[in-house]
Amino acid sequence: MIPSQFDYVAAHSVDQVTQLLADNANAKILAGGMSLVPAVKARLKEPALLVDIGRISELVGVSSGLLGKLKIGAVTTHASLIDHPELAGLPIIADTARVIADLQVRNRGTIGGSLAYADPAADWTAVFLALEGEAVLKSRGKTRKVKGEDFFLSMMTSAVEEGELLTEIRFSPDGKRAGNAYVKHRQPASGLALAGVAVNLVLDRKRRIEKLSVGVTGINAVPFRAQSLRARMLGEPMPDETALRAHCEQIEEADPMEDLHGSVDYRRALLAVIARKALSLAHQRATES
Ligand SMILES: Cc1cc2nc3c(=O)[nH]c(=O)nc-3n(C[C@H](O)[C@H](O)[C@H](O)COP(=O)(O)OP(=O)(O)OC[C@H]3O[C@@H](n4cnc5c(N)ncnc54)[C@H](O)[C@@H]3O)c2cc1C
Repeated sequence: MIPSQFDYVAAHSVDQVTQLLADNANAKILAGGMSLVPAVKARLKEPALLVDIGRISELVGVSSGLLGKLKIGAVTTHASLIDHPELAGLPIIADTARVIADLQVRNRGTIGGSLAYADPAADWTAVFLALEGEAVLKSRGKTRKVKGEDFFLSMMTSAVEEGELLTEIRFSPDGKRAGNAYVKHRQPASGLALAGVAVNLVLDRKRRIEKLSVGVTGINAVPFRAQSLRARMLGEPMPDETALRAHCEQIEEADPMEDLHGSVDYRRALLAVIARKALSLAHQRATES
């Protein structure tokens, strides 16, 4: 397909991007282009201006802030998050980055692009929810922060508004006896999640679950937190295999999509299996930490 005509600017700063977005009603941000370029080629999107943010160094990389808060720049690629030294305490990040798509997509696609696009089967969405992350959004003269739980509004719609640039994602890693993990079953062609579960848990001194957050992708039209699972497991020791299986079969928020890749029943059954694996791995990591 041949895209409709558009102008292109390779931006060099965040201020330039927010200015361009404010001045051009039909401008689109271009990050890795892995989702936007196919949509533009198919004329599903017809921007008048593409603002390329791929060369803005302040949007790339991982850094630590106050109280151990971790910041990941929106234009950081999936590939560069696979074995980042700053992220050793968050193995969930490497779990996720290494199972996204293929080498080419991992080298181009960005964590910010993935979250802003809000594909219901994208991997980072579940991790962002489980780690209770925060997104920093900038528009001309304004900055706002949006929590993970408020970030995914409807199918393919995130909280990023027209004129806004997602600049970074922030997480606050937990300390001792914390474990986190991401497990997915991939759709064989795209690699996107048929079911993906991200778990962040903390054990107390008696090995009971003190904190639990579970993010789910690939199941509903909008990624979600499995709060029913959390409510049943919080304050308890890790259940045995049979009880864990039963918990994971009762994720009340699950309202599975049906498409050519899987029926409602298939997705529900898959979710139970993947949730059990992710919980077990996160728990194992917590006991080893
Ligand atoms: C073949 C293939 C397989 C894939 N498999 C997987 C997979 O297994 N798992 C998975 O999770 N994903 C998968 N993806 C998606 C991919 O990982 C990208 O993350 C995703 O396409 C978007 O990231 P991007 O940087 O390429 O964004 P772009 O395509 O450049 O942009 C996507 C959208 O987000 C907006 N945007 C981008 N960055 C920002 C920002 N900083 N602020 C505001 N808005 C922004 C753009 O305007 C656009 O609307 C796959 C993609 C392809 C093509």
